[in-house]
Amino acid sequence: MKVLVANLGSTSFKYRLYDLPSETQLARGGIDRIGMAASACFVEINGQKQESTLPVADHAAAVGMCLEQLTHPQHGCLKSVEEVAAIGFKAVFAGNMSGVRVVTDELLKKMEDLSDIAPAHNPMYAKAMRQLRSAFPKLPLVAALETGFHETIPPENRLYAIPYEWSEEFEIKRWGYHGASHRYLNTRMVQLLGRGDLKVITCHLGGSNSLCAARDGKSQATSMGMSPQTGLLHNNRVGDFDPYALPILLRKTGRTLEQLLEDLSSKGGLLGLSGVSQDARDVEEAAAKGNARAQLALDVFVASIRQYLGAYLTVLGGADAIVFSAGIGENSSLIRAAVCKNMEWAGIELDLAKNSSLPRGSESRISTDSSRVQVWVVPTNEELVVARQTVEAIGKK
Ligand code: AMP
Repeated sequence: MKVLVANLGSTSFKYRLYDLPSETQLARGGIDRIGMAASACFVEINGQKQESTLPVADHAAAVGMCLEQLTHPQHGCLKSVEEVAAIGFKAVFAGNMSGVRVVTDELLKKMEDLSDIAPAHNPMYAKAMRQLRSAFPKLPLVAALETGFHETIPPENRLYAIPYEWSEEFEIKRWGYHGASHRYLNTRMVQLLGRGDLKVITCHLGGSNSLCAARDGKSQATSMGMSPQTGLLHNNRVGDFDPYALPILLRKTGRTLEQLLEDLSSKGGLLGLSGVSQDARDVEEAAAKGNARAQLALDVFVASIRQYLGAYLTVLGGADAIVFSAGIGENSSLIRAAVCKNMEWAGIELDLAKNSSLPRGSESRISTDSSRVQVWVVPTNEELVVARQTVEAIGKK
């Protein structure tokens, strides 16, 4: 069964085509700068990569183009679009309509109504899904919501201390995100350690960041809250922030609430603290050259990861493994070493040589042989999780 997995950013569309149950990846591709004069496109089928630059108007046009590429008579890997059993979307937020669901009008409306929570994702997912439903009415569309993995978080780790009715009526709680990634990493640790009764802390550190504490593969706590703007600081988003600072900002800057929320989610994080860049590579480079604010940004980032790490060791009563993943977690030996520094008291001993010599993209244990807690780097595979969930969802339907 062939399943297309779609991952939409505000101006980007990435996809992978899988054959299941073998989980073979048949193709992958992406389109950047959607809606601009020149969108950058690539497609890789059977190891052959092709790149092009042409205007792609919107996300639905991007998905249409992807289907054309996959069914191309010479370079494609499908005879027709009918071979695709479903499209699975790594969708973000629909409140109580969480988990994995076949896309319906009700779900689309809910995603649109809750756009304030995920403004960079919900509107374009809903729009692309609507356009695809009219363009390919027979093709099942499945939304695998990022909040789904965190449905097992118990109330004491999920609720804000607001009037209880607000949680119920307005669905205001710590929903948590990066569900596909944390799910993949937990499933992978079961395979790597050969047992399921594990206490695992997964650190998804990339453009946006979250930690998750899971017991027996079930999420118990995670650092993102109601929105994906919270928890750890992100590339250009603020992370945890006190809402009582907002009236001061409103008065002193003269900006509107909407403008300030936009500032907090585009001028904060590594970018805001460092004044250098939202990309951790640039910030690390500047810090190495003596830029004090770049160093400060890294220090704040590492300190916040360590605070959640300490909290999650308490939530789980220790850990069998800590896993680093995503752009920073997989590639930055500096951040990994800083996070694990002086943690021997908790049974965490990093093998500094292994940590710094890890080849790019590799999956490896980076703790010492005597470390009580194993520390791993595991490249995440969110798309594979969505493909598996999509098959399950259309099976149930
Ligand atoms: P992701 O969102 O998982 O694709 O992660 C993208 C981010 O990973 C980039 O914005 C960088 O900040 C970070 N990144 C990628 N490679 C490195 C590296 N070698 N060192 C530090 N950070 C990296």
